[in-house]
Amino acid sequence: MLTLQNKTILITGASRGIGKGIATYLANLGADIAFTYASSVEKANAFEAELIALGVKAKGYQSNAADFAASETLVDEVVKEFGKIDVLVNNAGITRDTLLMRMSEAQWDEVLDTNLKSAFNMTKAATKYMMKAKQGSIINITSVVGITGNAGQANYAASKAGMIGFTKSVAKELGSRNIRCNAIAPGFIETEMTDALNADVKAEWIKGIPLKRGGTTVDVANCVAFLASELSAYITGQTINVCGGMVM
Ligand code: NAP
Repeated sequence: MLTLQNKTILITGASRGIGKGIATYLANLGADIAFTYASSVEKANAFEAELIALGVKAKGYQSNAADFAASETLVDEVVKEFGKIDVLVNNAGITRDTLLMRMSEAQWDEVLDTNLKSAFNMTKAATKYMMKAKQGSIINITSVVGITGNAGQANYAASKAGMIGFTKSVAKELGSRNIRCNAIAPGFIETEMTDALNADVKAEWIKGIPLKRGGTTVDVANCVAFLASELSAYITGQTINVCGGMVM
């Protein structure tokens, strides 16, 4: 049975959605969890209590992953509180979808800063400690859209494609320090957000998926658990699509 006991995992954007699913799953495997969020203070406080009730150490931090200095401060605080960071999951992400013709500079910058610059900010801050510890696993949550592109998502697709290039570069730079860096590209994952989609739109999406269902946060969390554990000790620089075969 896979265990993540004695591992400290820092995950960005875990007050809801996929991040919350990943954090819950990893805590159930025994990992201590530090997680961040942007503004959902009440949800995050309730979630912190839920994780602690699972018998692990857990703490939520309100911190903007797009802010370089704030990310550095956050990582220092987490190490002070937890003693180390074994695994970093760069999950925080947003969309500001619109056609290129209508996309404002602000919509471009917000998405690139939150999705891509955040991965740089957090990875730079956390690897300082991982290098001293001579071990670490970094997991970047990208998207199949970063591989295929998508009309109406030029900003989002560019940020997610950027994460894949970033992942491979970090893997090449830090492999000799026993720090691995991989990406997970989810496809259509059912969350509170997708619950709001109308049934016809959802059915149309599912038609194009070989496994004929949307993914769950547990499907993504299973892959995160694998990449966080020693089961993936010889895997770095890879992007694993968790998409029911939607993209091959
Ligand atoms: P979500 O439900 O919108 O949750 C986003 C999380 O990120 C929230 O916890 C939010 O905190 C946090 N966040 C947003 N901006 C932040 C910032 N600047 N700093 C720190 N935290 C921030 O999103 P999701 O659907 O779970 O997606 C999670 C990740 O998976 C994203 O990177 C997304 O691109 C990727 N993904 C999702 C799907 C999908 O089908 N859902 C598919 C492929 C990839 P607050 O609650 O405080 O706002």
